[in-house]
Amino acid sequence: MKVCDCWQGNKNIVTIKMGDETMYEKIVKNILFPLHEKVVGRKTYQYLEELEKLQWAPVDELEELRFRKLKNLLQHARQNIPFYQRRFAEAGFDPDKMTSIDDFKVLPLLSKADIRQNLDQMTWKDCPGGLHRYNTGGSSGKPLVFYFDRRRQAYDAAARALTHRWWDIDIGDRELYLWGSPLEVTKQDKIKDLRDRLTNELLISAFEISADKVPEIVSQFRSFKPKCLFGYPSTIDLFCRMAGEQGYSLNDLGLKVVFSTAEVLYDHQRQAISEFFGDIPVVDAYGSREGGFISHECPGGNYHIMDPNYVIEFLVDGQPAPEGEDGEVVITHLDAWGMPLIRYRTGDMARPVAGKCSCGRTFSLMSKVQGRTTDFVLTPDGRWQHALSVIYVVRDIEGVDEFKIIQEEVTEMRVLLKIHENLYPPEGNQRIVAGFKKRMGDEVNVSVEIVDNIPREASGKYRYVISKVDGTSV
Ligand SMILES: [Zn+2]
Repeated sequence: MKVCDCWQGNKNIVTIKMGDETMYEKIVKNILFPLHEKVVGRKTYQYLEELEKLQWAPVDELEELRFRKLKNLLQHARQNIPFYQRRFAEAGFDPDKMTSIDDFKVLPLLSKADIRQNLDQMTWKDCPGGLHRYNTGGSSGKPLVFYFDRRRQAYDAAARALTHRWWDIDIGDRELYLWGSPLEVTKQDKIKDLRDRLTNELLISAFEISADKVPEIVSQFRSFKPKCLFGYPSTIDLFCRMAGEQGYSLNDLGLKVVFSTAEVLYDHQRQAISEFFGDIPVVDAYGSREGGFISHECPGGNYHIMDPNYVIEFLVDGQPAPEGEDGEVVITHLDAWGMPLIRYRTGDMARPVAGKCSCGRTFSLMSKVQGRTTDFVLTPDGRWQHALSVIYVVRDIEGVDEFKIIQEEVTEMRVLLKIHENLYPPEGNQRIVAGFKKRMGDEVNVSVEIVDNIPREASGKYRYVISKVDGTSV
């Protein structure tokens, strides 16, 4: 997951010609990248070295650090951010009197709607280095504007670099982004283009990936020879399937690892992507553009939270989720001073995981994000049922290429299907209808529509299930 604001621009092919690539990687790592960060005033390297040490630090030392950073952030917010000044006063909260991290949990949660309504009251006007505006499509399709400061960008970049190192990928190693987002091609960003040449990154826009484009993308892989690949799992999986169908194989490319981001990584995707590139690890990260770089899988198979940069809560109705149950991930980004996010509702569902990881890192553990709060369907008898229950019904049927399930009303389900006609069974539609009724209730009406194309969200993400019944939670 990359959370910087600099992917705009139409870079279909970046050609880097050099005699000795290993030497070039060293130059990028030791000279060009540090120089770039220095020019833009970011302390990414310094923070990366901090994180390198902190990942092995005793848990109580990390706790102490987070408490100190949280208190500083809250004092800053009270002093410099009008929105929080008001919020703190209304809640009777005084950061000077804090004695533990829990003390700030009297503050109300911050929703996307709060941000939309109060944006100009939420930023630090005198932020050193200024603020960078970012506009995201948002999962609901409503745009969300927010601001980054340099310090936050540097901490997010450092967290990303740290977790890449867990998988033996260092700054300067060739990284290919197979990106599924609709790039704003009109905003060509020459500086980013140059930066990418310098930092050994290649971005391929795969927003509308099609069979026609596959040969070109395969040849880009072959000429760039990336060490790692980064992108939305749905996009990468789709590319692998299409390339496989056309007889291509990239299992000899020498790719070391695939980093999956921004969407739920399903097991079948992980397996298919891994196989296509020669049985390499497919690793999941969790975060978002506004939320930053929250957690990442390590070689021990766990998701470690970036403890030095966050206070993370898992809440159900404002209270900690009962043990063994998922709650909504609520974040406080300890280094976002330009526009603080204090108890921000991400809309994602996960749970804390107790215990230590075999890798020896002390950063705390959380479960995989199973979906967004909206990745649930409401049954007529009032149960919020995880979307997987209906996803499995559709996925079990052979010949289904892509699908999308839309809950228009509690009793109205629409299923859009893109199928392989010679594989899809004649009774396929009836099986879907019966499966949905079994899981949700007999009174549910299910319509199955065979379509040529499944549209993506405005954000470029692919969502399998959308329930319009609850559009208000975030
Ligand atoms: Zn670990």
